[in-house]
Amino acid sequence: MDCVFCQIVAGKIPSEILYQDEEVIAFRDINPQAPTHLIIIPKRHIPSLIHLSEAESPLAGHMINAANELAKKEGIAESGYRLVINCGQEGGQLVPHLHMHLLGGRKLSSALG
Ligand code: 5GP
Ligand code: ZN
Repeated sequence: MDCVFCQIVAGKIPSEILYQDEEVIAFRDINPQAPTHLIIIPKRHIPSLIHLSEAESPLAGHMINAANELAKKEGIAESGYRLVINCGQEGGQLVPHLHMHLLGGRKLSSALG
């Protein structure tokens, strides 16, 4: 498996892991776009959001819940933050393993790109 995020899950690529449970893992983005920039992923390889079946949709809620808890730990729950899932080429997805960005700690642009 040459997926970079699967290798992070397997511990083969080092990262600053901030949270993990049976289903998800969260770590700091290597190229942060904000003072807090975390990546939340399912441990299981799902290529992108479009591959998340309806039966697996509780996983999305679980990822959001993990992100909310991490926002509190990072001290940005009150100031505000943004969750982003890029899907596919035109959605700006570079790593083909479903992931959610948690961004905060500065005023983010109101533009959606
Ligand atoms: P995407 O554009 O696919 O939504 O975002 C992928 C994100 O993964 C980027 O923000 C990028 O900086 C981050 N990333 C890529 N490779 C690594 C890595 O090896 N370690 C960490 N911590 N983040 C990575
Ligand atoms: Zn993967």
